[in-house]
Amino acid sequence: MILIVPLILRIFAGKYVNAMALWPFILVQNLETKESKVTIHHEKIHFRQQLEMLIIPFYFTYLIYYIYFRVKGSSHFQAYLLIPFEKEAYANDSDFNYLETRKWWAWRRYISY
Ligand SMILES: [Zn+2]
Repeated sequence: MILIVPLILRIFAGKYVNAMALWPFILVQNLETKESKVTIHHEKIHFRQQLEMLIIPFYFTYLIYYIYFRVKGSSHFQAYLLIPFEKEAYANDSDFNYLETRKWWAWRRYISY
């Protein structure tokens, strides 16, 4: 379910984030984002990652990767892009059949150190 909730999104993720997967909801800033096929597919890839990790461990692991790359000296945005969940989602968010063939825990192929 896609919810247009700019204020809630701002609290969770800051004002520069357009969309966020918070299973079972996709939170978006506005109607334009809601209608972006690529963005919504990107968030659905995160849904798959979240489900296979039983939700809470996904957020924990996501945060650990973010902190790891920040500690290593990456900027906020660089660290975000290095998180393997984001790398998998960005690499495949334009391939709308991706989730049909995606292998279990495929995000692990995107881990870098
Ligand atoms: Zn993402």
